[in-house]
Amino acid sequence: MSIRTRRIRAWFLRLIAPGYSCCLHCGTPWKFVDHRPVQINPGRAFFFACVDCWPLLDPAEKYMYAQQAVYGIGWGWRRGQSWPLDRAKQALDALRGELRNEAS
Ligand SMILES: [Zn+2]
Repeated sequence: MSIRTRRIRAWFLRLIAPGYSCCLHCGTPWKFVDHRPVQINPGRAFFFACVDCWPLLDPAEKYMYAQQAVYGIGWGWRRGQSWPLDRAKQALDALRGELRNEAS
């Protein structure tokens, strides 16, 4: 299914699951799709993309969505809360580490 089609489908899914936050790429509420976690440390992870979108995103896009997630600037219809700066930095560092490993 193309990203365009998934975004249209996601628009309808958000209507029937208004309380859920969503994948920042396709907009599908987490009720309907699994998230792809990024491990911050052994006890904590964060996520911004679903398992379907993750492989489609290049590193720059992943970093952009991660920034949106931790700074609370997601899509207009679903703004999050900004994290404390030290936690935001930890999360972005974790993603950078993972992206470095993917590239090598
Ligand atoms: Zn997605």
